Amino acid sequence: MDEFYVTPIQQLNEKIDNNHVYIKREDLLPFSFGGNKARKAKLFFNDIEKVKADYVVTYGSGSSNHCRIIANMAAAKSLPCLIISPKEAAQKTYNTEMIGLFGAKTIFCPVLEVANTIKMQMEILQEKGKNPYFIMGGGHGNIGTQAYVECFEEILAFKKETGVDFDYIFHASGTGTTQSGLVCGKLLNNSKIKVVGISIARKNPYGRNVVSQSVNSYLESQGYAGKYNDAIEFIDDYVVDGYGTYNAEILDTIKKVMLQYGIPLDITYTGKAFWGMNEYLNKRKIQGKNILFLHTGGTPLFFDDIEKIK
Ligand SMILES: *Cc1c(COP(=O)(O)O)cnc(C)c1O
Repeated sequence: MDEFYVTPIQQLNEKIDNNHVYIKREDLLPFSFGGNKARKAKLFFNDIEKVKADYVVTYGSGSSNHCRIIANMAAAKSLPCLIISPKEAAQKTYNTEMIGLFGAKTIFCPVLEVANTIKMQMEILQEKGKNPYFIMGGGHGNIGTQAYVECFEEILAFKKETGVDFDYIFHASGTGTTQSGLVCGKLLNNSKIKVVGISIARKNPYGRNVVSQSVNSYLESQGYAGKYNDAIEFIDDYVVDGYGTYNAEILDTIKKVMLQYGIPLDITYTGKAFWGMNEYLNKRKIQGKNILFLHTGGTPLFFDDIEKIK
């Protein structure tokens, strides 16, 4: 489980609007189908070991990649795992199947009662003499941000090795943790790469504000004074009708990328973001640039979606 490696960056042989496109394969991180939640989880479990916690508690919906990875890592470390899940989003997916396989316990509650339920369950565990560790949904927080500062540094190392200088990084943005890590990495390394988060659900100004808060919270935790107020590119033009919704173009994109490159995308995150990136480049007439698409994972969702894509 500790043998994480630098994820590969591959160039696509077809240009998009005359831009060179590369993909960083976070989906190939070697634990439980990889993805950005695996990169974050590795750091959370380092912290769990440090504070000697003996119970892992987290939050997420039925399609959550985060919950799958946390449940799998907890199992690998022989730690019991409890997942609080909104009953409004309790659909059965391959991720929920796997969460069951890993022996995690799930408690469903109405979305409005989530915060209370978490607090109550933490107290119950503490009263039983346990030392439970809570991980925010999606691996949100400074530890999750740190994971993507490190990823940004991998991207800079790629530039050093190959001379390929990226103008843009595009990725699916949900809780904004991945994006805040990339933005912090850019700031701390004085890089000029533009980080463009394609929102998969949230609208602005809320979505952008959360990223901005995460950036400032992380910088503060690292001892940097002053606030970062620069524009954060959290693009909400491609959310369709919200989390998990899609259109025919997203389905076409997923099919095309799978057929042409053998790379699985999904409706909720990476397929939506890859399509959004295409639209963004096209609408803004961006040409002749080096573009990096960060593939944030979610491979099990590809199989949930396969009937729709055919
Ligand atoms: C969670 C997730 C995201 C969004 O990441 P955030 O850090 O929450 O913004 C993107 N893609 C996939 C596949 C995910 O599972």
